Amino acid sequence: IPAEYQQALPILKKIEQAGHEAYFVGGSVRDVLLNQPIHDVDIATSAFPAEIKQIFSKTIDVGIEHGTVLVLERSGQYEITTFRTESIYQDFRRPEHVEFVRSLKEDLKRRDFTINAFAIREDGEIIDLFDGLKDLDDRILRAVGDPHERFYEDALRMMRGLRFVSQLGFDLEKETFSAIKENHQLLKKISIERINVEFVKLLLGNYRKKGVQTLVESQCFEYCPALAGKKEELLSFAALPEKVIKQESQAWVLLIDQLNLKEADIRPFLKEWKCSNEMIKTVQSVFYGLQIRKEQAFTADLLYQLGETQAILVEELLPFYGKTASLEKVLIDYHRLPIHSLKELAVNGNDLMTYFDKKPGKWLKEQLTSLEKAVIHQQVPNKKEELLQLAEQQQAK
Ligand code: ATP
Ligand code: MG
Repeated sequence: IPAEYQQALPILKKIEQAGHEAYFVGGSVRDVLLNQPIHDVDIATSAFPAEIKQIFSKTIDVGIEHGTVLVLERSGQYEITTFRTESIYQDFRRPEHVEFVRSLKEDLKRRDFTINAFAIREDGEIIDLFDGLKDLDDRILRAVGDPHERFYEDALRMMRGLRFVSQLGFDLEKETFSAIKENHQLLKKISIERINVEFVKLLLGNYRKKGVQTLVESQCFEYCPALAGKKEELLSFAALPEKVIKQESQAWVLLIDQLNLKEADIRPFLKEWKCSNEMIKTVQSVFYGLQIRKEQAFTADLLYQLGETQAILVEELLPFYGKTASLEKVLIDYHRLPIHSLKELAVNGNDLMTYFDKKPGKWLKEQLTSLEKAVIHQQVPNKKEELLQLAEQQQAK
């Protein structure tokens, strides 16, 4: 039993002492059985939310309508969700309403894949009602129950299946995969935000090549934002060197590059994907930096403009283009820059206004930019007197 579960054991015990059942469930169980690190420990219980709130002193209603209560304990915080079925589905989306039930089996039945449908009891016993252990062993992703029905209930499960292919390198079981191919058009019912989450995990998976190829074969990409008709481009993305992509922004940059988009297309493309403005900005500058860096070494200007973090993001992408990355050199060169932002310039706007006895205006910004450039290019030391002298020469022109 991993440390995360050890720490959470008292929670299970407390719920059981109050006369209810409680289990570890979901992705963490899968990851534990695969000997992979786990992120969130999910707990499922026969207790209703109100009962959970009576058992624990500090709780937050994070999703009470879905039966989820966040329990805050000294050992950490845990999402505790009441066993539920998701009986009535409308429009192939999330269930219309959930129904709390007292049986673990009902709860496990509504889960997407057999390897996500285990429960672990407090004594370490694995409850495996759908032969998930065998599928785990055979490295197979199999829908729980009838795959057609399950994808009709919630079409996002198809994208989840594809992202697990990319994360785990497993194969989709034959019928499960046929059901995805046959029903891929149901994805158009799913909100882009939900597709985005799974797609990004797919891009960042250890088995990205397999994941993207399966995405293409399944036809699901036809209903992903801005990817309809982009089969060849996606396959060339899949054919990039098999190296894990570290950051989401880097994944978008590589994809956008394989899609042959221009700088001006980036914003509309990522807007379609409902990416945040912050993400869009990062992708734009990493893309810009990469196009230059592919052809030549970083100049002081480019390093300064990108900043340390983005320069590293750019450099890390070189191996995807058959080039060697030297992160160390980037760091050294970056730290050798005389200044790293306008704040570090030895004169500021006030200094210049006082010195020239002039009101602020266009001249001020231009003068500052010109001094900034001169310092970055090492044409003048970053010293107040020298800078004012240079400014005086420049103003005299
Ligand atoms: P990750 O490790 O990325 O968190 P996960 O499998 O834990 O993967 P979550 O979205 O955290 O994914 O979901 C937790 C669990 O809830 C899943 O393991 C699965 O049992 C169930 N689940 C999540 N989404 C669905 C869905 N759309 N349909 C059916 N079951 C789902
Ligand atoms: Mg999870």
